[in-house]
Amino acid sequence: TPNVRPLVAGNWKMNGTRASLDQIKAIAEGVKSPLSEKVESLICPPATLLYVATALCDDSPLAIGAQDCHQNVSGAHTGDISAEMIADCFGTYVIVGHSERRTDHAEADDLVRAKAEAAHAAELVAIVCVGETEAERKAGRTLDVLKSQLAGSLPDAATAANTVIAYEPVWAIGTGLTPTVEDVREAHAFMRAELVKRFGGEGEKMRILYGGSVKPSNARELMAVANVDGALIGGASLKAADFLAIYGVY
Ligand code: PEP
Repeated sequence: TPNVRPLVAGNWKMNGTRASLDQIKAIAEGVKSPLSEKVESLICPPATLLYVATALCDDSPLAIGAQDCHQNVSGAHTGDISAEMIADCFGTYVIVGHSERRTDHAEADDLVRAKAEAAHAAELVAIVCVGETEAERKAGRTLDVLKSQLAGSLPDAATAANTVIAYEPVWAIGTGLTPTVEDVREAHAFMRAELVKRFGGEGEKMRILYGGSVKPSNARELMAVANVDGALIGGASLKAADFLAIYGVY
């Protein structure tokens, strides 16, 4: 998308111990190049590593974020973390509505929207995930699903600065399968039109990432599709060399 700075983001999911901080160190070093003026980079490690990871990125353009937040600021919610806590650890992004949260924790669009609003209140950038299941795609419902997920999951106050969309077909996550370039083009063009309808000029500049089995060997063709403004990478973000190879396609 013209005049938009792409974002290459890694989602470590429930992977990574202190030993994995070496990978974050290597990524933080690897993105120290003139390319960082043009392309943003982000790793979302598990919450246990958040604070120490941000300290490692002190002198690097690599941003650090979290994988989820609670919709409330604080309180009796055992096991949850708030957007304020993420900001307190110097995290700057949070993923909300990832399909694994939607499935494992029954998170629906209204909750995802509340989490995005909580992120914004803490001055975090929310990465709001949407995507159809295999059954929905087979039934020809992909664009309907994207329309209703965007309508329900995005706050009215979403801007290009505080919100990123991640299109992640559920059947492409962790499977090695990817949609065709033509299918990605269609989905992203559709989402762009929906965003512009609702948010006007902000919708034109809002980044729409593609996620689902992105790896060094397919990143170049996926990132070249119109309205694809970066990647959300699961498995391939765990190894610094793979993440940096994907980042390097720009
Ligand atoms: C993800 O978890 O957001 C993801 C896209 O995973 P993978 O790259 O492993 O398919």
